[in-house]
Amino acid sequence: MLPILESTDTRALRRLLDRTPDDHARIEPAVRDILGAVRTRGDKALVEFARKFDRLEGPIELSPAEIHAGAGDCPREVRAAIRKAARHIRMVARAQVPATWTKQVAPGVKVSQRVVPLERVGCYVPGGRYPLPSSLLMAAVTARAAGVPEVIVTCPRPDASVLAAAVEAGVDRIFQLGGAQAIAALAYGTATVPRVDKIVGPGNAYVALAKALVARDCAIDFFAGPSEIVVVASSGDPAWIAADLLAQAEHDVDARALFLTPSRRLAQQVARAIEAQLAGPDAQGTPARDSLARNGAIVVTRTIAEAAALANRIAPEHLVVDTPELGASIPVAGSIFVGAWTAQAAGDYAIGSNHVLPTSGAARFRGGLHAWDFVRVSTVQQLTKRGVALVGPTAATLADAEGLKLHAASIRARLGIAPKVGPVK
Ligand code: NAD
Repeated sequence: MLPILESTDTRALRRLLDRTPDDHARIEPAVRDILGAVRTRGDKALVEFARKFDRLEGPIELSPAEIHAGAGDCPREVRAAIRKAARHIRMVARAQVPATWTKQVAPGVKVSQRVVPLERVGCYVPGGRYPLPSSLLMAAVTARAAGVPEVIVTCPRPDASVLAAAVEAGVDRIFQLGGAQAIAALAYGTATVPRVDKIVGPGNAYVALAKALVARDCAIDFFAGPSEIVVVASSGDPAWIAADLLAQAEHDVDARALFLTPSRRLAQQVARAIEAQLAGPDAQGTPARDSLARNGAIVVTRTIAEAAALANRIAPEHLVVDTPELGASIPVAGSIFVGAWTAQAAGDYAIGSNHVLPTSGAARFRGGLHAWDFVRVSTVQQLTKRGVALVGPTAATLADAEGLKLHAASIRARLGIAPKVGPVK
């Protein structure tokens, strides 16, 4: 039975909040070794790791003919679902692309925002436990909508559904690589895998940590590790709440599912519903039971406001709340699902919002994967003679105040005040 804790039990609560679902320290030496090996030995190391961890035989890269033939094996109804989900993701991503604009700050002083897509991005598509064509769509469709010309995918086991999603998204190249070795290949490049400008996409603890470790050398989206869900509700159907918690727990033994409620009765009903659903046929063989035992809990709070405050402290990847007002009072979450009808798992696939989301508290500073992640936003500025006469004195005064005399001189030169010079030796 999922433990039911009291929010007044501060020791138990601290233990729950301090627990990180994935144990970085334990796996960091292995991840560093893999990154180092790929960086120094390139394709040779990639092939060894692909054989060892993913039992891959044959070449790392799939040819265009193999991609299309494999996609053709995907059942027709799955392909139709992929097409529809992609349409929704594309619609949302296009609305997200930042605008190009020009602002006249003062006469002769012009500032523009320029938006240029990244040249080449690498999308990590998980494939250890389940094939995730949905993760491919989330990353690659968004990249394309932002205008990225070259989209590369790595996936340890790209099945027919992943290949069909790749064709739908217009992916350029697919490498059968997973784990830290795939991240190293994308970050540093090898003879076969080209180095990318940015790596995006979710993965297990090895993938998420590898991304964090290469982040000094290659841009990444954010820490998108094992899934998390927090449900905050004072009322609702216990079976639906249990189903939402189990859906995320199903991903990984490292996943984390928490239910926060001021209703003791609902807490007990949800705990019983979880047990009943875990005994059902759909739950056989999933990691959901282990995941709940290791990282799950129900917390009975004194008030709904206390539950909301607790959710804000956790900053979960997915937050499910029963009322819109509550959604507004919990701003710290990767993605927020409001109301009983908003099945969180529908957002994993087909609502159009992105399911690649920050975990391990990274939702404190950002939301999910976004068209912004695929563009370079820079400013372009231009002064006329009148413009420099307007802003130049202000800039020169501030440069003087900072003691940066050569900054000031470079501005005053344009104002007709020649830089001071000494004897030329
Ligand atoms: P995965 O592709 O992320 O990981 C599989 C790879 O891990 C393998 O290819 C292997 O190379 C590596 N690996 C496994 N065991 C290893 C070991 N002992 N040593 C070194 N490397 C090892 O697939 P997965 O395992 O199924 O995990 C998918 C993850 O993605 C889940 O944790 C799920 O919760 C998460 N996810 C997160 C989000 C998000 O947005 N945060 C979205 C979808 C999925």
